[in-house]
Amino acid sequence: MDLISELYYRYNLFNGEKGFIGTTHCGYKIPYFKIGKGEKKIIVTSCIHAREFVTAYLSFLMMDEYKNKTLKSQLYFIPIVNIDGVKILNEIPDYKANARGVDLNTNFPAKFGTGKFNLKKVGKENYIGKFPASEEETRALMDFTIKTKPDLTLSLHAKGEEIYYDFFDEKLKTAHYRFALKAQKATGYKIVENLASAGGYKDWCIHALKIPSLTIEVGEDTLSHPIEKGYARKIHKKIKRLIPYLEEELYEK
Ligand SMILES: [Zn+2]
Repeated sequence: MDLISELYYRYNLFNGEKGFIGTTHCGYKIPYFKIGKGEKKIIVTSCIHAREFVTAYLSFLMMDEYKNKTLKSQLYFIPIVNIDGVKILNEIPDYKANARGVDLNTNFPAKFGTGKFNLKKVGKENYIGKFPASEEETRALMDFTIKTKPDLTLSLHAKGEEIYYDFFDEKLKTAHYRFALKAQKATGYKIVENLASAGGYKDWCIHALKIPSLTIEVGEDTLSHPIEKGYARKIHKKIKRLIPYLEEELYEK
């Protein structure tokens, strides 16, 4: 079964709270799945960059794991934000953008257009779009996040085994750094202060919503893009403690 078919297959079988955050440019509904009942909420997004589809399989593994476990928090998984982009991988295997050639993780209204690798030209990666939140997928994720009011967001990307935690807000930095430290303890990944980042989902969550948000770059840097589906299990093993450790910090008083 291909990845998109598996997404909807899982959606149809899923017993818990589920729904769609919105629709892609090409008309695919973007599913979310909610697992757990605790007081705090965590949004976990993956595959906003098409070629990083291994993160979608990773989300599936996390969903399967937490389905039968008692969690302290409510996890909202959006396994594939960029469904249209995944479709394009059949022709361009290292494609990152959406169907309109916009890199969705540069399209959020947070220091829009100031990122180090930002481009102003349509392409397979790094094009920021005509204006902030110009893309349907971007707006869907923003609306869903505002509605859900998460206490923490995690953006799963590939690759490099790194944790990006910072954006620009000095006041929030220390509090957010504690989450990065927990993530480091859980995974052994390296913390990176990514000041070159702009327009990303995590950037927007920190900038607009003032909530702690981390980007987790999974998969060893020696792997080449796109990382195959088969690696998801290995990655999952490595980050197994991530959610429980972050929950510890969430409930720290
Ligand atoms: Zn990425």
